[in-house]
Amino acid sequence: MTETKDIIAVLQSPTEEDKALVEKAYAFAANAHKDHARFSGEPYMVHLAATAKSLAGLGMSAKVVAAGLLHDSIEDVGVLPETIEKEFGKEVRFLVEGVTKLGRLKYRGAERHRESLRKLLVATGKDVRVLIIKLMDRLHNMQTLQHVREDKRQRIALETIEIYAAIAHRLGMGLVRRELEDLAFQYALPDEYAKTKKLLAERSKETIVQLEKMQKTLRKELAKNEITNFRTDYRVKGLYSLWRKLQRKEGDIEKIYDIAALRIIVPDDIADCYRVLGIVNNLWQPLPNKIKDYIAFPKPNGYQSLHTTVFTGDGSIVEVQIRTETMHEEAEYGVAAHVSYKESSSAKATDGQGRATSFDWIKSLIPGFGRSGKAGASEPQKSNGGKRGHYSTSGGPSWLADLGDELEDPDFETTLKTDLFNRRVFVFTPTGDVVDLPSESSPIDFAYAIHSDIGDHISGVKVNGKLVQLDTTLHNGDIVEIITKRSASPKNKWLDFAKTTLARRHIRQALEKEKK
Ligand code: MN
Repeated sequence: MTETKDIIAVLQSPTEEDKALVEKAYAFAANAHKDHARFSGEPYMVHLAATAKSLAGLGMSAKVVAAGLLHDSIEDVGVLPETIEKEFGKEVRFLVEGVTKLGRLKYRGAERHRESLRKLLVATGKDVRVLIIKLMDRLHNMQTLQHVREDKRQRIALETIEIYAAIAHRLGMGLVRRELEDLAFQYALPDEYAKTKKLLAERSKETIVQLEKMQKTLRKELAKNEITNFRTDYRVKGLYSLWRKLQRKEGDIEKIYDIAALRIIVPDDIADCYRVLGIVNNLWQPLPNKIKDYIAFPKPNGYQSLHTTVFTGDGSIVEVQIRTETMHEEAEYGVAAHVSYKESSSAKATDGQGRATSFDWIKSLIPGFGRSGKAGASEPQKSNGGKRGHYSTSGGPSWLADLGDELEDPDFETTLKTDLFNRRVFVFTPTGDVVDLPSESSPIDFAYAIHSDIGDHISGVKVNGKLVQLDTTLHNGDIVEIITKRSASPKNKWLDFAKTTLARRHIRQALEKEKK
């Protein structure tokens, strides 16, 4: 079983106080759960310690790790929230209570799906660390799902794919998403899982030989062009992600070019990414319409990279992904990278050239980070220099240990959008509160959703820090700031931009009053 020292060993530059907090939480949890066992028959503490260690591996602070140790103590063994506060402080209590609340949401099929997700997101708006604890809790539960009663496994596996993996994806946590999906896949669809696994094993072998050849050629060519500071590796597609893509391609694996992809990671210089792209496309013939610039146009969850798909010259086609170290870390750890960097220098919060990255909106969710930076306690934290990744994986073949992101799966994103985000848009106040609006809403809808008095006195609006027109359509993750003036009042044309009945009603009332 994971012991206190194993958890402390993965904490990022812990102070004596941090170590003491984790030790105390460990002892407290062990005692509280002493008569409590897992379905496997193991002590319950095994689960709590595994969750806490994963959190430490993601770079979370000692408080979050302590909350990971205590996360089931309210729900399962009746510890009082007041006791947690007395022993561990307000913040740990808040986190444990947050996880407890999330735990009460149960997936009941598609109909309830959206609602649950919405609640989860709103909870995230209060503090994204709660959600990260929940994800690590779920990860360990999935790693031990074989001990759960068979009739329950299916529901838990589906819930994992449809809610938790989807959230990990939304938070940019590529590694966690992939592992959750692949663990759940075998229980949700055992036959499909076995078939896909076999297919992947057959196909990835030849592709990997190909990729190794390409790596050699590329290294030489980059050296010729005086690019020496880079590393290459490759990632094999996740099983669930491959299965989804196969369905979209009528089961024809020949049409899937990214079973394995070659990755080129350069230090934090964006210009080098484009130089490497040029060299790759010059070396091998690229496929038309397959060059994707997710650096200039990041994916909605913040993913950044350059993608190109090339003919290798001997009949195969391979995808190449080019990114900086920072982008790589963000693609794998997403919001977790930002939570743990929140108190360190701003170097990691930008793209290395001082530009803010598209993760800004996520940062706004984190107390003590960026715009909403009043709250958090400031215990200085050092970057771990990319050594993150100690969160426990489920074992399996060694190439699976190189877990890659699967963000290039358009079908997944489409499903996610249609199912979950199509009808609603989640935007944020400058202090990180979530406002849930119908899609296509404007800043006017936002203002009235906050308060009618704000709506009635809009004089201007900033979205993501920039002044915009009142008819701007709001998108997921936008940070909206309304500028009010006492002399401002609703205009007739606002009715053209207001989508919510609430806003339209207030505008009409104000216009009528004015007429009189
Ligand atoms: Mn748990």
